[in-house]
Amino acid sequence: MQGKGSVIIIGSGLGGLQCGVVLSRHGYKVTVLEKHFTPGGCLQTFVRGKAGEGRVRFDCGFHYVGSVGKGEPLGIMLEYYGLGNLPWKRLDEDCFDEICFVDGSKGTFSYPYAMGFRNFSEKLSEFFPASKHELEEFVSVIENVCDHTFSSFGPGGFNPYFSRSAKEFLEETISDPQLRKVLSGPSLKMELSPNLPLYIYSQIFGSFIRSAYRLDGGGETLINPLCDIIRSQGGEVLLGKEVVSIDCSEGRAVGVTLADGTSYKADYVISDAHPSVTMEMVGEEGKLRGVYRRRISSLSNTYGVFTANIRLKKNAIPYLNRNVFIHRQDADLWNPDPSKTESLMVHFYPEDGRYASRMDVMTPMDFAGLSRWKDLPEHRRGEKYEAAKKAKWAECLSLLESRFPGIGDCIEDVYTSTPLTWLSYIGTPEGSAYGVRKNSENVLATVISAKTPVEHLYLTGQSLNLHGILGVSMSSILTCGEILGLETLRKEILHV
Ligand SMILES: Cc1cc2nc3c(=O)[nH]c(=O)nc-3n(C[C@H](O)[C@H](O)[C@H](O)COP(=O)(O)OP(=O)(O)OC[C@H]3O[C@@H](n4cnc5c(N)ncnc54)[C@H](O)[C@@H]3O)c2cc1C
Repeated sequence: MQGKGSVIIIGSGLGGLQCGVVLSRHGYKVTVLEKHFTPGGCLQTFVRGKAGEGRVRFDCGFHYVGSVGKGEPLGIMLEYYGLGNLPWKRLDEDCFDEICFVDGSKGTFSYPYAMGFRNFSEKLSEFFPASKHELEEFVSVIENVCDHTFSSFGPGGFNPYFSRSAKEFLEETISDPQLRKVLSGPSLKMELSPNLPLYIYSQIFGSFIRSAYRLDGGGETLINPLCDIIRSQGGEVLLGKEVVSIDCSEGRAVGVTLADGTSYKADYVISDAHPSVTMEMVGEEGKLRGVYRRRISSLSNTYGVFTANIRLKKNAIPYLNRNVFIHRQDADLWNPDPSKTESLMVHFYPEDGRYASRMDVMTPMDFAGLSRWKDLPEHRRGEKYEAAKKAKWAECLSLLESRFPGIGDCIEDVYTSTPLTWLSYIGTPEGSAYGVRKNSENVLATVISAKTPVEHLYLTGQSLNLHGILGVSMSSILTCGEILGLETLRKEILHV
């Protein structure tokens, strides 16, 4: 049923591809234009090492998701996008995340995040018996937000939890300061800040508590089928195509032009690139009001991250079917200082079930200290940049050793990236990991609508209302809903 109109999608990140799947299924002629030669944006993978034993594929960022079980919110959405049968592997039921604090000479203290809302509060109550009721109250609010995922779809179906601060909620609900720290433990899955909306904290926190899974094969396992579905429905995913301008006529988007000068005409344009990057591509004919342009370009972004993708020596470390978040006890998790290395997220990959073959380590990193190299390509940033990466890795290793003594000796190779790498590859301003920073005190300005003032130009992706696989999957529905009608999509997704 081709012939409803044509759609250009800028960027093959998860959001761009999901929109491509839905619109091509509905009979639109879809063309996805990706500037890189690998699709997937933050979900792309890369290969390092010599052919044979030493050759390893790493994920750039993706590690695990929540609520992907049958009938669970993300599971329902992924099925709708044609991703119903992926090789998800459930993490440890009683400890899918370990929250570890390093307290100088006192050593390390770890707390488990257990799966299932009740199991979660029961297991933590064993460490904080006096806080049992507070924990139950805390969990019931989080669960309530997650239960209403489909009735609270972003800016349109506006959710009051957006204008409530997660930090204030935590302080009002939980009186024990150490328990508050523990409940702030998976801080690297989002950027904790005093004005982080409770909605974002609850969705991300709660979706993993409901159930937590890693994916065999990583991000590629999500991205490749989406490209195949688009192509099988008559669409195209074209790589190595950098869009430099969104062409408009009389305030309406009519196509795009690439860096090589080629133009593509279309009835609709959707951008999966960061909103401020998108707005820079709109010329005079877009008749974009200055106030909107200024609003979008002045949005602040979440911090960027330093990542270390590590190949481990064979059979050197037992595989842990959980993620480990390591924090210095005195770190202020709600005001992270990316110029220090006070928090790490550690993710393991299994070799044969018993041992870990690879490991990823992630920590916030300050962009300002790197910005002098921002106009150079990654391989030409020179010795001082390489030294800065080495120094950051040394800080990570020192913190890592507190939880895993001797781990340095188990490492075969380390490949590192910085926010500059993310800026070069994805184009997100300042190499931000999770896009636009949301603010509970300024929701209308920081939660972004898929619809722009330029007719037939729409936004999608992690900066709209929520990041991660969950958030982007929700944004894609909001974006396609602008063209197909949100109610139509809601019925298709929920089979009602
Ligand atoms: C280190 C890290 C770890 C993460 N781990 C997890 C995790 O474990 N679980 C989870 O749920 N989420 C995780 N996330 C978040 C998740 O990966 C992102 O929210 C999501 O993938 C973003 O998708 P997106 O659609 O917004 O597009 P992006 O991934 O931002 O992709 C945008 C695409 O647009 C392309 N593009 C930009 N400009 C142009 C142009 N001018 N022309 C053509 N193409 C262009 C880019 O090249 C890119 O491919 C992680 C993120 C990071 C950074």
